[in-house]
Amino acid sequence: MKIGFIGLGNMGAPMAANLAKAGHEVTGFDVASVTVEGVAKAATAAEAASGRDAVITMLPNGAILSAVMAEIAPAARKGAVLIDCSTVDVAAARAAHEAAAAAGLLSVDAPVSGGVGGAAAGTLTFMCGGSDEAFAAAKPLFEVMGQKAVHCGGPGAGQAAKICNNMILGATMIVTCEAFALADKLGLSRQAMFDVVSTSSGYSWSMNAYCPAPGVGPKSPADNDYKPGFAASLMLKDLTLAQAAAADAGAATPLGEHARALYEAMVAEGGGGMDFSAMLKRLGSMERNAG
Ligand code: NAD
Repeated sequence: MKIGFIGLGNMGAPMAANLAKAGHEVTGFDVASVTVEGVAKAATAAEAASGRDAVITMLPNGAILSAVMAEIAPAARKGAVLIDCSTVDVAAARAAHEAAAAAGLLSVDAPVSGGVGGAAAGTLTFMCGGSDEAFAAAKPLFEVMGQKAVHCGGPGAGQAAKICNNMILGATMIVTCEAFALADKLGLSRQAMFDVVSTSSGYSWSMNAYCPAPGVGPKSPADNDYKPGFAASLMLKDLTLAQAAAADAGAATPLGEHARALYEAMVAEGGGGMDFSAMLKRLGSMERNAG
């Protein structure tokens, strides 16, 4: 396929490289003028989109996505599929679908989980929203860039699934860190905590696969000085998107809001570049009810 790829950052560059490696003809554009192996460079987003079978965007936020959509929707060939893999607000995702439909294009919102490692290894999970026809057109590309693509529903459903998942992840990580901080103060060893909880009803991905305490459980960012992994600033972004969606939809999400506020405080204290599991360090050094 002829593919345009817009946004060649930490995630987009390896995703575009994997598509090129699989034999697709990929033309990329990034405002930072990035070079990616096997990917031809376009001078503008419109040029990257023009005449392609599929156009993929991997951008920082919804405002940038909307600006890029305004450029590429008129330039893209009718019937092409636009695939937005960025994590953005549900409202911006729906607006992108509307802009695509108005220009006679198919569109899928397809945010990912799996991080930079998954992007490089081609093992991402895509959470997709859009019509059956659009999902079917995009699926062969998901199969190159990832190991799983779930069609979650209509326009915006992929973003909805992503923020619900990450709200669970943020809150679960915090309470797992809280439990370790409490166990420390109760004189319980971290190894005993892991051995019991990872095989008891308190188990979770945060405990079992990504343990925030160094030296116990499988290797995780905690064992690498909390280098990300998944940075606290990105978790704050996702929890903020979840709260915006909850406010729009009138959904009660008190723990999601508290998780957002705790990551906001961690980022304000300079911890945004650390892995989100470094919440354990912050809680461990905090006095009771310090906020
Ligand atoms: P990044 O900042 O490394 O990359 C974004 C790229 O977009 C940059 O290279 C930037 O120059 C480019 N860009 C900005 N404005 C542009 C424009 N108008 N036209 C063309 N290019 C433009 O970010 P990333 O880590 O690659 O993340 C991309 C998206 O994926 C974000 O929405 C993020 O939330 C999501 N995401 C990231 C991770 C992760 O672990 N990094 C995991 C899951 C999802």
